[in-house]
Amino acid sequence: MNYRSTRDNKISVTSAAAIAQGLSAEGGLFVPESIPRLTKDDIMSLCEKSYPERAFDIFSRYLTDFSDDEIRYCTNGAYSDKNFDSDSISEISHLYSGTYILELWHGPTCAFKDMALQILPYLMSVSAKKVIDGKQIAILVATSGDTGKAALEGFKDVPGTSITVFYPEDGVSAMQKRQMTTQEGGNVFVCAVKGNFDDCQNGVKAIFTNEELKKQLDEKGITFSSANSINWGRLSPQIVYYISAYASLVKSGDIEYGEKVNIVVPTGNFGNILAAYYAKEMGLPVNKLICASNANNVLTDFINTGVYDRNRHFYTTISPSMDILISSNLERLLYHLTGGNDKQIADWFGKLAKDGKYEVTDDVRAKIKDIFYAGYCDDDATKGAIKQAFDEYSYLMDTHTGVAYKVYNDYKEATGDTTKTIIASTANPYKFGKAVYEAVGGETEGLDEFTIIEKLEEKTGTKMPAPLAATKTKPVRFTGSVEKSDMAAEVMKNLGK
Ligand SMILES: *Cc1c(COP(=O)(O)O)cnc(C)c1O
Repeated sequence: MNYRSTRDNKISVTSAAAIAQGLSAEGGLFVPESIPRLTKDDIMSLCEKSYPERAFDIFSRYLTDFSDDEIRYCTNGAYSDKNFDSDSISEISHLYSGTYILELWHGPTCAFKDMALQILPYLMSVSAKKVIDGKQIAILVATSGDTGKAALEGFKDVPGTSITVFYPEDGVSAMQKRQMTTQEGGNVFVCAVKGNFDDCQNGVKAIFTNEELKKQLDEKGITFSSANSINWGRLSPQIVYYISAYASLVKSGDIEYGEKVNIVVPTGNFGNILAAYYAKEMGLPVNKLICASNANNVLTDFINTGVYDRNRHFYTTISPSMDILISSNLERLLYHLTGGNDKQIADWFGKLAKDGKYEVTDDVRAKIKDIFYAGYCDDDATKGAIKQAFDEYSYLMDTHTGVAYKVYNDYKEATGDTTKTIIASTANPYKFGKAVYEAVGGETEGLDEFTIIEKLEEKTGTKMPAPLAATKTKPVRFTGSVEKSDMAAEVMKNLGK
């Protein structure tokens, strides 16, 4: 199976090339030429398998230029109990009958990004060997908090790679910042940007498409790649856990094969929910995909009206990993929904770059409404939802999951739908300790992060996970911050050019 660029159908590359490159040269994203279909037998056969075996099964349908041994090297290396605190890699908690929380944060950085970023370095080194043997890969990451740390952990000291992470100076939680600035490893760089996440993301995209820079690095045997969810190697691992969760629920007898489920996803860059869309297109029995946003509700408006308009106020919220106004992966969805109309996609995303706005056709709008439901909530409502889940079900969730839970409650009220539902839980609550402690009624004024965390442990009878506790004593290594116009210079400096 080959991968096409969303903005130019003539560009068709192997999965290894798509992963090594990250983004297509003219700015499009790589998408699979066709979406493999799973039969009932295919899904039932997964029920008895471990997570790495399930991942192997799904990857072998997408990475057809990888050998079985190469895929196994990746899936077994990434999804082991060395890296995850759960044998099942992702856990399913029962909130109440028919409503399941898919906990995707049992990896080393306590956010769902680990599910993809633990395996991406493996996928990338195998890919690089195939298509650009001998070259150094310089990974560039723009992060709203969680991707940066997860990518740093994934790539630290991986031979043949270096990684530079940019994060918005005032746009991440205290714990997220601490996790990144204390990162260990000889090939890692972390830098704050005086701007928001979109500034970081645009800066990184501009570096990727800067021919002059690329030429300079090429002469040194270095090539850029991306660990953001614009990389197919980031997105494909996320398809696995939706299919895996369904298989687990069939196995445990909670659902019968064929029974449709809703999937609720707290959404920012549209990567996680797009992976659920691919799972649905592969044949997973899905009713609605529910897209939950915070006050940055550009996706809610888009799904409800067909107009994408980023010209609006940017809010800094207690769910910072969703503080995004340009959701890059939407481009992949629209490519599929237009039947692969590259001209149309290039036109819409050209308009987005130029005017910050585009409007899809009635036909595409209708398809979107059929597949998705969208809603949003503000910080107060998020905190209210966290409190309610804790008071009623003794389940402590983080702020992003809180947004998903609130939007799901609104969905049920609006539609009366009683379909069984999987809510994607994207971070451990201790990553956002201050907001979570306030949500359950705690007073945080004047208290530092670690005092708040102790109080949260006391109040809720839960425990901070070990990787977060470890940051308390690690020295801070990275204190720099740059203007958004200086990001390229920073990268070149770090690469020693
Ligand atoms: C990245 C992130 C999200 C948003 O995921 P997208 O794939 O960007 O939509 C939600 N919650 C948390 C905790 C995250 O780290």
